[in-house]
Amino acid sequence: MYDAIVVGGGFFGCSLALMLARGGARVRLLERSSDLLTRASLNNQARVHHGYHYPRSVLTGLRSRVNYPRFTEDFSACIESGFRHYYAVAARQSHVTARQFETFCRRIESPLQRAPVAVRRWFNPALVEQVYEVEEVAFDALKLRAALQSRLQTAKVEVSLSAEVSRVVTAGVELATGELLLAPRVFNCTYSGLNQLLSRSGAEPIALRHELAELCIVEVPPELKSAGVTVMCGPFFSLMPFPSLQAHSLSHVRYTPHCAWEDSAAATGVAAAPRPSRFEHMRMDALRYLPALGQLRHLQSIWETKTVLPSSEQNDSRPILFRPSAVLPGLVSVMGGKLDNVYDLPAELERL
Ligand SMILES: Cc1cc2nc3c(=O)[nH]c(=O)nc-3n(C[C@H](O)[C@H](O)[C@H](O)COP(=O)(O)OP(=O)(O)OC[C@H]3O[C@@H](n4cnc5c(N)ncnc54)[C@H](O)[C@@H]3O)c2cc1C
Repeated sequence: MYDAIVVGGGFFGCSLALMLARGGARVRLLERSSDLLTRASLNNQARVHHGYHYPRSVLTGLRSRVNYPRFTEDFSACIESGFRHYYAVAARQSHVTARQFETFCRRIESPLQRAPVAVRRWFNPALVEQVYEVEEVAFDALKLRAALQSRLQTAKVEVSLSAEVSRVVTAGVELATGELLLAPRVFNCTYSGLNQLLSRSGAEPIALRHELAELCIVEVPPELKSAGVTVMCGPFFSLMPFPSLQAHSLSHVRYTPHCAWEDSAAATGVAAAPRPSRFEHMRMDALRYLPALGQLRHLQSIWETKTVLPSSEQNDSRPILFRPSAVLPGLVSVMGGKLDNVYDLPAELERL
């Protein structure tokens, strides 16, 4: 008998298990892969920032600005900070103008300065209204995995790998092997799998939207090696250092999502099907804004399901989801839209 069972060993499942164990609970963490942090927590853009990415959601921007120093301090050994990040506001098709972006940054009190002329020259002046230089870091997901493994061990969380939960039952879970484990609290931290587990458990589903995302891992020209670039705010691209592979990731608002769906058995097959890469589309479009990209070398593509709340579609917000089930007492589904939302968890736990 445990005080709590956490299903899913991604960043959120591990962090939640840690918080509970540090509070004195006996916790079991169950992960179906053979290691922790193998899914969205590994396959993402690795970005932590002061809120710059969310000019259409002041609340998400503000929460990011507040959580940024906490995350970079708690995980300082997992952070790559040896680069500068440049946010360029597109002259056309952007949801914000440069002036609106400056006002937004002032409102959330995030530091912003115009990029030096030498950097401004990297961009196409016909398509880019303004370029800003900001402080931003990238996390190394493999180092995060190692840090969490060690913290879980110290906190005496019982971690089981290759342990798939087939369903949640009253006061416990049933593993795919048929074994039953008991706990009054079960946390469903399976991200893109939240509804699959809820449905197998006879619990009510949560409205979620999924995308099959392609992140292109690339080698950039020497002058961009210690830089990140984001063109905003609309159908543009981002180039971020990707520390776990010592390269950069290239993503594009239009081309990274290959398809989108809501939960249904039929859609799972669609998402899993192999697809041709859209690297060339991303590269050609990015080159229009940033001619300095020059010869970009495509090393590989990373494919992952990205899950967001339907409300995020409107304003690009990334709130945390913390949803107790009305059908199965003790079951709570948790999904953090981004890693630094982890600091919103303690308040949610207190409200339980
Ligand atoms: C393309 C992309 C880019 C992103 N960029 C950023 C970014 O730059 N910065 C940022 O902060 N966030 C970013 N995010 C969001 C971030 O990755 C997620 O918010 C975070 O990783 C979610 O963590 P998690 O632990 O909930 O999910 P996951 O890491 O996916 O963990 C869920 C775990 O549950 C396990 N599981 C599933 N079903 C079962 C079962 N039945 N039994 C046992 N285990 C199960 C899975 O194997 C998996 O390990 C991005 C996401 C994507 C997809």
